[in-house]
Amino acid sequence: MKFSWKNLLLWSLPIIVITFFIWQGIFAPITNDNNNVANSRMTYGRFLEYVDMGWVKKVDLYENGHTAIIEAIGPELGNRIQKIRVELPASAPELITKLRSHKIDLNAHPTKNNIALWNLIGNLFFPLILILSLALLFRRSNNTTGGPGQAMSFGKSKALFQIEAKTGIVFDDVAGIDEAKEEFEEIVTFLKKPEYFTAVGAKIPKGVLLIGPPGTGKTLLAKAIAGEANAPFFSISGSEFVEMFVGVGASRVRDLFKKAKENAPCIVFIDEIDAVGRQRGTGIGGGNDEREQTLNQLLTEMDGFEGNTGIIVIAATNRADILDSALLRPGRFDRQVNVDIPDFKGRLAILNVHAKNKKINPKVSLSIIARRTPGFSGADLANLLNEAAILTARQHKNEITLHEIDKAIDRIIAGMEGTALIDSKSKRLIAYHEIGHAVVGTLLKDHESVQKVTLIPRGQARGLTWFTPSEDQSLISRSQIKARIMGSLGGRVTEEIVFGDSEITTGAGNDLQQVTSMARQMVTRFGMSTIGPLSLENEDSNPFLGRGMANLNEYSDEIAIKIDKQIQEIVEECHNKTVDIIKNNRVIIDKLVDILIEQETIDGQDFRNIIEQYTRIPQKN
Ligand code: ADP
Ligand code: MG
Ligand code: ZN
Repeated sequence: MKFSWKNLLLWSLPIIVITFFIWQGIFAPITNDNNNVANSRMTYGRFLEYVDMGWVKKVDLYENGHTAIIEAIGPELGNRIQKIRVELPASAPELITKLRSHKIDLNAHPTKNNIALWNLIGNLFFPLILILSLALLFRRSNNTTGGPGQAMSFGKSKALFQIEAKTGIVFDDVAGIDEAKEEFEEIVTFLKKPEYFTAVGAKIPKGVLLIGPPGTGKTLLAKAIAGEANAPFFSISGSEFVEMFVGVGASRVRDLFKKAKENAPCIVFIDEIDAVGRQRGTGIGGGNDEREQTLNQLLTEMDGFEGNTGIIVIAATNRADILDSALLRPGRFDRQVNVDIPDFKGRLAILNVHAKNKKINPKVSLSIIARRTPGFSGADLANLLNEAAILTARQHKNEITLHEIDKAIDRIIAGMEGTALIDSKSKRLIAYHEIGHAVVGTLLKDHESVQKVTLIPRGQARGLTWFTPSEDQSLISRSQIKARIMGSLGGRVTEEIVFGDSEITTGAGNDLQQVTSMARQMVTRFGMSTIGPLSLENEDSNPFLGRGMANLNEYSDEIAIKIDKQIQEIVEECHNKTVDIIKNNRVIIDKLVDILIEQETIDGQDFRNIIEQYTRIPQKN
C-alpha cells in the first residue's frame, strides 16, 4: 500500500481508539495505584512495631485487607518517606483500632479483579464492533469500483478512468457540425506539430468546453481529435466522480492527470462536467463537499501543467450556464465550442455517414428522411438507421426500404406500435378525437400539415395525428402558436360536440397540458399578451433547483393574477374558434371518422383530398 496521509489517518484512528480503551480498562487501575508501588517488603510483626514507634504515616489496604502499602519514615529508612508492602494475616481486627489510635491515615481500596476485566471487555467490545463494521463497509464500497482486497485503500480503486490508446475515429465519422470541427482541426495540428505554434510563441488552449444537447456528437468529436492526432484518449464522466466517500473524486482527478502527463501528447476528456463543475454555493441543502473537492482538484490540476505540454482537456456539458465561473477562466476552459442539433444539411450529412455501412435500397432518398426529422440529434439519426436495419432483418429482407425507415421514425418519435382497438364506443371516440386534431390543423393557415392520422396505438397514445414538422422551429409567430393551441384543443372539442359534456375523457390530458404551457409561455416569455412585452419567467427557471431559485416569482402577486387571467383568455378565445371549426365541418368529420375506423390509418394527402371535396383548404405558409 502506498503511503498517503489519508491512509495514515485511517489506520491510526482504530489504533488510537483501541489504545484508549485498553488504557482505561487495564492500565487505569494500575496507574491509579502507581504511587503505591512498593519495592520493599516488611513482615506484619515489624509493621506493628513501626506503628508503635510512630513511624507509619499512611496505610492503604488492598485486596480485602490482605495487603497493605504503607508509607513510613524512620532512621532505618534513611529518614525518608518510603513505600513498603506488607502482607496482612487473614483477620487482624485489632489492626484498625491500633491504626486509629495512632491517628494514621487509613484507606481501603476496592478489589479490581473480575470487574475490571468485564469493564475492559465491555469497553473494548463496542468500539471493536464499530471499527470492524466500518472496515467492512469501506471494503465493500471500494470493491464496487476496485478489486477485492482493496479494503480501506481509498481513492485507489481500479476503474479510475477509461484509456483508449487508439480511438479509431476520424473527422470523417463526424458530420453536420462543421464549425466545431474546424475549431478542432487546429488542435489536432498542435498535437501533431507543436513546434509550429511554439516557434511563434503561441499557446494552444489547455481546455476546450463542448456545449450541446445530448447525442449531438460531443464524445464522438473528442474521440475524433485523439484519433486524428494519433494520441491516447483518457476519459472519465463527471457523474462517476460523485461518489459516496469524500476524497475519491479528487484523488481520481489527480491520478487521471498523472497518467495523462506520462502519456502526453494526449486528450483528457471529461464528460458531463456539470456534475462536478456546477456553480458553487448554490442549490438546496448547501454545498456538496465531495463535488467541491473534486472541482478544486480539477482546477488545481489544470493550473498545474504548463501550456504546450501536449495535454488537451476537453470537457462536455449540455448546460454551460450552470458551470462554476472558475472553470471558464483563462487558462482553464477558456475556449468554448457549441455543438447544436443539426439542421437539414447536417442531418443529411450524418445520415450519409451512417448509411455507409448499411444496405439501403438505392431508391431511398436520404434527403427525404432528413426532411422528416427536424429536431433529431446525431444519435437519434444513427439510431433511426439502425432500427430500420433491425426491422429489415426481422422481415428477412436484404435491403432497407422507405417502409422500414418510416416505421423506425415513428417508433423513435412515439414509441412501440400496439394493436388497434376492436370496434367499440371508445374506438369511435378516439377516432373523433384524432380527426378533430387533424381537421383543425388542416383548416388553419398557420398550422403544419397533417402527415397521417392513425388509430394504431403507440407508446402511451391510443391514437395519433402526425404533422409534418416545419424546418425552422426556432422562430414561431404568434398566430402559429395560436394555431397550435387550437390544433391541440381540436381533439377534446370534438369529443365535447359529438359525445356531449358528460362523455369527455381523460384522453385529452396531454393535449391540455401543452395548451396551457403554450398559452403560459405566450404571456410570460414572449410578451404576446396585453400585459406587454415583459419576460416574466425563464425557459427553465429550475436548473436543478440551483441558481434559478432566485428567478421564481420575480413578479408581484398582482401580476401573477393578471398572468392567470391572460392565460385563461387566450385559451378561451382559441377554444371558441376551435368549436366553430368543428361545428362548421361536422359532416366532413363524420365521414373521415368512418374511413379512419375502417382503414385505421389515413395518409396526409388522402386526408386532404377528402376534405377538399367539401371545403377549401387554406394555402399553408
Ligand atoms: P454526445 O456525447 O454529444 O451525447 P455522442 O458523441 O455520444 O453524443 O453521440 C452518440 C452517437 O451518435 C455517436 O456514437 C454517433 O454514432 C452518433 N452521432 C452523434 N452525432 C453525430 C455526428 N455529428 N456525426 C455522426 N454521428 C453522430
Ligand atoms: Mg457523450
Ligand atoms: Zn389529442
